[in-house]
Amino acid sequence: MPPNSDLLQAKLDALLRIAKNNDQKQKNFQEYELSLLNSSGLFDLLSIILEKHLDQFQLTEVTLLLLDPEYECQRLLAANPQPDSWQGRLLFTDSERTLQKTYNVRHRPSLSEFTPKLHQAFFPNYAELGSVAILPLIRRNRIIGSLNLGSRMSDRFQAHIGTQFLQHLTAVISACIENAKLQENIKQLGLLDPLTGINNRRFFDQRVIEEVTLAQRNKTPLSCLFIDLDHFKNINDTHGHQAGDYVLKNGALIFNDTMRTSDVLARYGGEEFVILLANTSSQDAYEIADRLRNIVAKTSFSITPDTSLNITLSIGLSTLGDNQHITTTQHLVSFADQAVYAAKQSGRNRVHRAHYS
Ligand code: GH3
Ligand code: MG
Ligand code: MG
Repeated sequence: MPPNSDLLQAKLDALLRIAKNNDQKQKNFQEYELSLLNSSGLFDLLSIILEKHLDQFQLTEVTLLLLDPEYECQRLLAANPQPDSWQGRLLFTDSERTLQKTYNVRHRPSLSEFTPKLHQAFFPNYAELGSVAILPLIRRNRIIGSLNLGSRMSDRFQAHIGTQFLQHLTAVISACIENAKLQENIKQLGLLDPLTGINNRRFFDQRVIEEVTLAQRNKTPLSCLFIDLDHFKNINDTHGHQAGDYVLKNGALIFNDTMRTSDVLARYGGEEFVILLANTSSQDAYEIADRLRNIVAKTSFSITPDTSLNITLSIGLSTLGDNQHITTTQHLVSFADQAVYAAKQSGRNRVHRAHYS
């Protein structure tokens, strides 16, 4: 073959390699984009961005900075414990000013070598990287955060490299984040009781299963308090249902205030509430319940500026782990429910432990 043709062949091979490479890149990219679009909620979406992205594109670090002025995103995520691997990688800022002044996120992607002064804030876990891409997340012309990619290689992200791919990717990510937040909000709305603002029965039914599983796995006691307001119907009958609503709302506030963050409070229905006390023995739960009963008994509920009234509670208590009779979620709840009934029978305004037989 004449030398010219060798050259031509080599050029063709090189082009073919580039085309193959691009084809692979495109496939990789499409697969990643699909997983973003198929994500099943905010937590899942963030996992894909923070974990899958790293592997799929062979990066050294991926971080996500989100503008979260009303702590909405952080609140929505509070339901799931965040994996340790997200430390220093999921970053929040509460103002647009910080986004611009501290992070200096611009409307256009910025690809460059890593400069600690400019980039350290985006990559708290790395003192040194080769090159970085700071990609703004934009919705309706406003910056809502940035996706930050870091590579050990200094030539991975360079100013002259085309950013079309990356811009497309961040547009998809921005839309997915907004969508996931919206969905999460709707989901959580369905799990809250509109009158008192605390969790509703649906939420409780889901959580109790998780808590029972956890307690059994860790071999820790789990106590359940079933709270029923005494003679509540009288309040409605005497003062009207608004007065009843007022008592329910303020009762829920008192319950909420006396709880630890690991406890689960829900309105079970009507004038019935339930509290799950994780890692709490029957004896400790009894004391907590009795304190609660006492606080409520001593509270004056001002249903109008010149009328206040007092109420009492009956509380039933059951504990998983104390005995062999309670082994399931259903047992835990129904024994606590039976104990309330016994508390009512024996005169109300008291805490009753479940009798297992
Ligand atoms: P006991 O001491 O035996 O528990 O008596 P009680 O009157 O509390 O129990 P009962 O189950 O007879 O009545 C519960 C009442 O709670 C009846 C219902 O009208 C009222 N109720 C349930 N949900 C609400 C609500 O959202 N708002 C108001 N105002 N009342 C409610
Ligand atoms: Mg009742
Ligand atoms: Mg009642």
